[in-house]
Amino acid sequence: MSRVVYVNGSYRPYHNAAVHVEDRGFQFADGVYEVIAIIDGRLVDEEGHLVRLERNLDELRIDHPMSRAALRVVFAETIRRNRVRHGSLYVQITRGAARREFPFPEAIRPTLVAIARSLDWAKVAANAAKGVAAITAPDLRWARCDIKSVGLLPAALAKQAAKEAGAYEAWLVDEAGLVTEGSSSNAWIVTRDGVLVTRQLDRAILSGITRSAILALAEAEGLRVEQRGFTPEEVFAAREAFVSSTTSFVMPITSLDGRPIGNGAPGLLAGKLRLLYEAYAGSQAAGALPSAPYLAP
Ligand code: PLP
Repeated sequence: MSRVVYVNGSYRPYHNAAVHVEDRGFQFADGVYEVIAIIDGRLVDEEGHLVRLERNLDELRIDHPMSRAALRVVFAETIRRNRVRHGSLYVQITRGAARREFPFPEAIRPTLVAIARSLDWAKVAANAAKGVAAITAPDLRWARCDIKSVGLLPAALAKQAAKEAGAYEAWLVDEAGLVTEGSSSNAWIVTRDGVLVTRQLDRAILSGITRSAILALAEAEGLRVEQRGFTPEEVFAAREAFVSSTTSFVMPITSLDGRPIGNGAPGLLAGKLRLLYEAYAGSQAAGALPSAPYLAP
């Protein structure tokens, strides 16, 4: 079956779907994006992702290309036409195409692209069963990491460094020596006392939709949670570590910069949260549960 991509009002064959050469996403990274998990053909936490997407557009003063209800129709149709049962939906909105000038052009229409692709969740689960490695890297990003902008070069450089070190993720460390988040995930540790720690929301990190679902699950389980920054030294002293994201769910981190975390195996709490999250995501996608809220920084 040939794949199709939604681009500005039509569904085009994947190999010739295109946007204008003077699109501001291409020239200025003037755009935002979302990645939403697809389970059994349904989107997980669609509402939370839509709220975050609209909030990010508003922060950058990019016009909404269409209503929330219309976006839902485009998303569902893109998934349907590609017959994706398990996978992810990538959505990108840029300010649009115009002759290259730094200030916002007047009266241009935003560009909207939606791409659905299959993903093998069993492979992700197999990775989670083994645990994965992370490295630290300096956080070289801008001062508005709360906006899910397509300006991803520092994240791509950090992820490449992780790949070259045989690691899954790079944990970004700010100038104060604190881990902010992963290059494409939120970062968590479990202390020796069993406290779940993840960085507080502000402009230095993305408010992950998975993060907010895990916080709700942790609260329902009566777990102790602290939202604060932590240092790499605290990671080495921690019992467990993991990352959360739309495409990783809960992924145990078993080493940082080549040093084992805890006993060097996936942690018990990470395993439990992963199971809880999988059950949540499955029933959430089926519409049985409300979407995890987008938590504004
Ligand atoms: N932090 C960053 C920098 C990300 O790019 C992502 C996801 O891509 C996340 C956190 C996790 O967010 P979510 O759980 O909404 O996928």
